[in-house]
Amino acid sequence: MRVRDQAAGSTSLRAHVGVLALLLVVLGALGGCSRRQPPTSNDSSPPKLPAPVGSVRPPVALTLETADEFLRWVAMVPISQKQTIRQQIAAAAADSRVVDALTNRLLKFPVTDHTRHLMILSTLGEIRSPRAIPSLKQFIWYDKDMFSEVASGPSTGVKTSYFQYNGSSEADSETGRFLAEDRTNLHCPLFNLGGGSDDVTNRASVMLHESWHHWQHAHGFDTSHPQCRGHDCDYYYFHTVSQFDFGALDRYDTNPSHLLFHSPYQIAVEFDADVAELSQGWVPVSVEQSARNYGNNRLSSQFVNSPGYTIGNPRPW
Ligand SMILES: [Zn+2]
Repeated sequence: MRVRDQAAGSTSLRAHVGVLALLLVVLGALGGCSRRQPPTSNDSSPPKLPAPVGSVRPPVALTLETADEFLRWVAMVPISQKQTIRQQIAAAAADSRVVDALTNRLLKFPVTDHTRHLMILSTLGEIRSPRAIPSLKQFIWYDKDMFSEVASGPSTGVKTSYFQYNGSSEADSETGRFLAEDRTNLHCPLFNLGGGSDDVTNRASVMLHESWHHWQHAHGFDTSHPQCRGHDCDYYYFHTVSQFDFGALDRYDTNPSHLLFHSPYQIAVEFDADVAELSQGWVPVSVEQSARNYGNNRLSSQFVNSPGYTIGNPRPW
């Protein structure tokens, strides 16, 4: 989800204020699932945990011959190890052939993999070579189609940054970024007036979902989604409410005999369920209903192991 929606700027600001207020109130209710029977699933196979981020791959030297391999390696290095990347770049900084190899790749259009281009830009930035400046200027002022595919979405008459454009998904999170801060991007669909995702409750649960990717990254888990039915999914890790004390939602335990874990879609759906069923009396009914709808849609479509529960029915645990 990476669009700057020009038209929705003020709407999004108001929405964020609303979301924050809603989050503050409802976070108190999170973890308020009720207690009863042990958890069950429609799916007999146990949920899989996301893979831990593997041990750091051995560094790839940045040379004329290994430039592509280096860029692939950089993409795999956790942000905690970025000093290793800097060392590889520093060792190559004086080699003009390496600078040329990178600028040649930078100016190769159309761009088909913008993530790789961001790696090239970051590497050139870290090299700090005056030799790269003319190419960087050329890149900045390039006025033909830089990308092979034209992004869709309503035109605002403003040139969109294609490096951040995504007109189809609601949001995404970038974790483990190289020489940059991690971040979450909220995209146009979340704010497109009247669209299927334009809803304050949905925005709140999407923000929780995205924040959970950062939680995954902070705890060394792979932040990508398993796929099911052709799109991003997650596993549902059943637990009773009492297993997460108030204020302890960020805890986890990967021991299979007492597994305690949340996935991004699960955290969003638990939030939806709590808004729908346990929110404060002053929360509008429309918000509760919307939370139920969005939560149930995700419950039915976004889990590899169907939870076998819909918001509104008695909780099976
Ligand atoms: Zn996600």
